[in-house]
Amino acid sequence: MSANTGEQQDEMTQDTEQNAQEPQREEPKPPEPIQIDAVMAVVAHPDDAEFSCAGTLAKYAREGKRVYIVICTAGNKGTPDPQMKGEDLAAMREREQRAASAELGVTETIFLGNPDGELFPTLEFREQIVRQLRQFRPDVVITHDPFRPYSLHPDHRAVGITTTDAVYPSARDAIYFPDHYREGLEPWKVGEIWYYGAEQPDHFVDIGETFERKIAALVKHESQVGKATELEKRMRERAAEVAKESGQDLELAEAFKVVKLRR
Ligand SMILES: [Zn+2]
Repeated sequence: MSANTGEQQDEMTQDTEQNAQEPQREEPKPPEPIQIDAVMAVVAHPDDAEFSCAGTLAKYAREGKRVYIVICTAGNKGTPDPQMKGEDLAAMREREQRAASAELGVTETIFLGNPDGELFPTLEFREQIVRQLRQFRPDVVITHDPFRPYSLHPDHRAVGITTTDAVYPSARDAIYFPDHYREGLEPWKVGEIWYYGAEQPDHFVDIGETFERKIAALVKHESQVGKATELEKRMRERAAEVAKESGQDLELAEAFKVVKLRR
């Protein structure tokens, strides 16, 4: 008798527990971190990646990940010298960028070669970026934040928004730019977009180990930074400020706003 009563009581307890649990919703779990094998920075000009995310790129390169930089313009107007010819400047800046990429351990640097200062979020431009995404298949895409109010450079705005539109849905769905599929380029789902220059960043990357590489890469852009006398000091102060903003135990950091995409 006593054994039966015990069983009944157990059943009743279970029932009560189940009933008590039923109306409760599951707590939303923080999303799982994605597996990162490849990172691609899509930027407007040679030197944009170095100023904004080079410590992060160097960190992933050091970890043996594939790292790409896509430079959307030739940077052929980036000079105060009215005598400078655009094509000479473009050639110089490509050399500077290749040297900078080498300092960071970048796997491949892609030059789209569009005219400086003339980018618009067109379908033609989007196709160029979708092609890179489908070819190199990055898990994370880093780019300019196009949603930041008062973002002044038209190329930065155009690259940020066009890259966003290229990631989702264009690169994902084969029906966009069907020539790619016919050429053998499969659709590709990017896992996350990381925006730099965001007003409210939510992801901070420790660049303590790679800050030196960032500076070594930046000084390669001599046409832009000149002798770079104060550059290291300025960049170190900035990275230290960002580290402080993170509220984490970091000395030097780069900051991003992350948008996760359903995979
Ligand atoms: Zn720029």
